[in-house]
Amino acid sequence: MANKIDRVPVREQAPAVRARNFDEVCYGYSVEEAMLEATRCLGCKNPMCMTACPVSVKIPSFISFVKEGKFAEAAGVIAQDSSLPAICGRVCPQESQCEGSCILGKKGQPVAIGKLERFVADWCRDNGVKTHAEIRRNGIKVAVIGSGPSGLACASDLAKMGYDVTIFEVLHKAGGVLEYGIPEFRLPKEKVVKPEIENVKALGVKIETDVVVGRTVTIDSLMHDEGFKAVYIASGAGLPKFMNIPGENLNGVVSANEFLTRNNLMKAYDPDYDTPIYVGRKVVVVGGGNVAMDAARTALRLGSEVTIVYRRTEKELPARAEEVHHAKEEGIVFRMLSNPVEILGNDKGWVKGIRCIRMELGEPDASGRRSPVPVEGSEFDIETDVVIMALGTSPNPLIASTTPGLEMNRKGCIVADEDGATTREYVFAGGDAVTGAATVILAMGAGRKAAAAIDKKLKNNN
Ligand SMILES: Cc1cc2nc3c(=O)[nH]c(=O)nc-3n(C[C@H](O)[C@H](O)[C@H](O)COP(=O)(O)OP(=O)(O)OC[C@H]3O[C@@H](n4cnc5c(N)ncnc54)[C@H](O)[C@@H]3O)c2cc1C
Ligand code: SF4
Repeated sequence: MANKIDRVPVREQAPAVRARNFDEVCYGYSVEEAMLEATRCLGCKNPMCMTACPVSVKIPSFISFVKEGKFAEAAGVIAQDSSLPAICGRVCPQESQCEGSCILGKKGQPVAIGKLERFVADWCRDNGVKTHAEIRRNGIKVAVIGSGPSGLACASDLAKMGYDVTIFEVLHKAGGVLEYGIPEFRLPKEKVVKPEIENVKALGVKIETDVVVGRTVTIDSLMHDEGFKAVYIASGAGLPKFMNIPGENLNGVVSANEFLTRNNLMKAYDPDYDTPIYVGRKVVVVGGGNVAMDAARTALRLGSEVTIVYRRTEKELPARAEEVHHAKEEGIVFRMLSNPVEILGNDKGWVKGIRCIRMELGEPDASGRRSPVPVEGSEFDIETDVVIMALGTSPNPLIASTTPGLEMNRKGCIVADEDGATTREYVFAGGDAVTGAATVILAMGAGRKAAAAIDKKLKNNN
């Protein structure tokens, strides 16, 4: 099914300019652009876009309000299902979710659902529009561990149901990956993340930072000594993986998590901060996900020449399509079908290069993607001063190891059922802590499901 109007393009900073600053790449739609784009939506009776959204935002309904210029009403519709719309509109992989299933995408370009969601959320923030209804408190205390998207989504839903919710966060700032992982040029902290967290607090949610659950307090002490009736663990997957190849201990090899945390949370890019960060003249980033793109584009902005090394082809890159497109426009070099076998050092113990081997694609593996196989004798070297490893992360074992009866699986993830119930009664878990590294919206979806399950469990008990 075609549409008479082409998808309204979104304005962005020019690649050569943005490659040297940390300002947001995308400017978003104006009122006129958003209303025009909204007219493209057919208002399908059986909207596939909505089925493909992990939190089931009522997409045709909010878009129909945008079409009429009723932006506060559109925000009210989104707020029924998502507590972080300005964030989701910016970082969700829409091409594989709502927009990937939009009927207009079959023969042309899907409706720009993400850009419209972002527009509505930004418009409300800029115009001081609040979407919260009156809440009747029940005084029952629930603890949430971790203030990333999963914890925030769970806490919001529980607070709306009347619970007295406290989030415990180990870092000095709330937001999880939204704050420490995803860079400013994709997700501005003061303009976007902070106001959305303030909206969650406005529901009555308390956030205690600098609390290490498993050290400062434990799940048992929260439940037995502090009166929390249930706990939701949303502690994410912050433990970086390495390749275990020779040379990984050289100076100049760093995990993407550390690199991005120094830059984002600790503001290394800002001359007013003293946070040290080491970027060489040349940087190689290993990996092909969002984390790899963020690390590469951050290193570029700090002044390096950057190459991404990935063992499959561009088709298999797990990063959002928009991030790959932006990275290429900015001048990042991609070396596909290449896998590191050794990191090369100089006589002072610093990185001077990386040795890779060419790969070809073999049979599909368990994930359905074709497995990369090394081509014998095809090793080659790339000169570099820094290697950033962006190979994925796993959950930190601290909470499971300090909570008797809480089971973990082989991959170090907390074992939980569909609703987030763990092997400990009244203890629920979700997001990356359960699935391993995934996406913001899946983490939020898990938080929402767990909130409903916690409510049911506590009601059945009273
Ligand atoms: C660099 C980067 C870029 C990404 N880009 C995208 C993207 O574009 N789109 C997308 O959809 N997804 C993206 N992701 C993935 C996405 O951010 C995660 O899937 C999502 O944040 C998971 O949410 P969560 O709430 O489960 O965990 P997190 O966001 O990791 O939050 C967990 C929180 O728990 C806290 N915590 C951990 N242990 C303890 C403890 N013992 N006590 C107290 N607090 C604790 C942590 O400090 C953290 O704040 C990206 C991830 C990274 C790292
Ligand atoms: S599938 Fe596309 S056209 Fe149909 S309601 Fe959803 S956004 Fe609109």
